[in-house]
Amino acid sequence: MLDVAIIGAGASGLMCACRLISAGITDIAVFERNDRPGKKLLATGNGRCNLSNSSVRPEEYNTDDPYKLADILGAYGFEPTADFFEKTLNVMLSSRDDLIYPRTFKSSTVLDALRSYIEDHGVKITTGSFVDKLDDKAKYTVIASGGMAMPVSGSDGNSYKLINSIVKDKTAFCDVRPSLVQFNSSDRDIRPLSGMRLNAVLSLYINKEKVAEEQGELLFTDYGISGICTMQLSRIYDRYIAKGIKSCYVSADLVPEHDKDTLAEEVKRRITDGKDISSRLSGILPKEICEVITSRGRDIAGLMKDFKISITGTRDFEHAQVTYGGLKLGRLNDSLSIKEHEDIYVIGEAVNVDGPCGGYNLQWAWSSAFAAADDIAVRLS
Ligand SMILES: Cc1cc2nc3c(=O)[nH]c(=O)nc-3n(C[C@H](O)[C@H](O)[C@H](O)COP(=O)(O)OP(=O)(O)OC[C@H]3O[C@@H](n4cnc5c(N)ncnc54)[C@H](O)[C@@H]3O)c2cc1C
Repeated sequence: MLDVAIIGAGASGLMCACRLISAGITDIAVFERNDRPGKKLLATGNGRCNLSNSSVRPEEYNTDDPYKLADILGAYGFEPTADFFEKTLNVMLSSRDDLIYPRTFKSSTVLDALRSYIEDHGVKITTGSFVDKLDDKAKYTVIASGGMAMPVSGSDGNSYKLINSIVKDKTAFCDVRPSLVQFNSSDRDIRPLSGMRLNAVLSLYINKEKVAEEQGELLFTDYGISGICTMQLSRIYDRYIAKGIKSCYVSADLVPEHDKDTLAEEVKRRITDGKDISSRLSGILPKEICEVITSRGRDIAGLMKDFKISITGTRDFEHAQVTYGGLKLGRLNDSLSIKEHEDIYVIGEAVNVDGPCGGYNLQWAWSSAFAAADDIAVRLS
């Protein structure tokens, strides 16, 4: 009988294998449905892999068990992760503010390091191997087969079926939804702005109440809006779905560096004769958006500070970076083993833990992998 079977060679599964190997355990089999491991990992951070964040705050994650999450991240947070990457996997790291990347700024560096460490120690990653049921070929099984975001990468929600074959109780799962994802809008007048990027402060209003604010690049698209700050707001939107969303819009402050009165003075100075208004405002904002603003009303400064975009929902899992929901963390022990099946562990995105952009989600993949691997190593010794 094998010591450990790992289902899924994505971020968490590969790291779990590395951590076990570093503890001297090599009787491991890793199964991956794709013809190569780490497909999604390669896509992370636009191919640069934002693998952690030096000031991860547990309270920024969505989860059903924030205390357990804080404990796991407290034990296996940024520092032990960075240490493992640099000293065990030989990946030199680099930071951009709090965001941590491999020094090469290439996700392939991270994947190659994880993969080589595993293969150099004689552990096989069996590709093209879809695991559709849990058997007892190994003393310990680690389910690391991901959530539902970017299903083309191999994580298409089948993890929940695997888990559900042993955890029959439906209340063990939180509903899943795409998160860190773009918003759809039905506003037709913003369609011509597709491709335009602006620095803005975005406020999310749900049922007429302001529920979140983000600053960053707003990207107009042919379906609605995108950009990192939009994607961050989608996490808050997800939280409100269960409570019921009757109305939703984003208010964009398109000139955040000026208050409304100063901006109103500026606008007034430019359009005293009322002629060719959009062109005269184009020194403040691109002409195309000035045309939309002037078509919406006369309070131009007000519209620039409060440019409303109605939201009809988020895009789907194909476009999402992470899954909101999944197996409740509360149904797992601190080591990520299932409470009523302690020889089976669930790690990574399959668990109901998701974080904002900025290295939070890979950090959870690594942290959960460390917690499971260290526990298995102790139990095997
Ligand atoms: C485009 C994009 C960019 C991202 N960028 C970042 C970033 O910069 N920083 C960050 O922190 N997070 C980022 N994320 C999120 C991050 O990539 C994920 O949270 C993380 O990869 C989850 O790791 P995981 O091991 O749980 O799942 P995955 O990495 O999805 O791996 C699961 C693996 O299991 C395999 N598998 C599934 N089912 C089976 C089965 N039944 N049998 C065998 N194999 C199976 C899959 O093929 C897959 O290889 C990004 C996500 C996307 C989509």
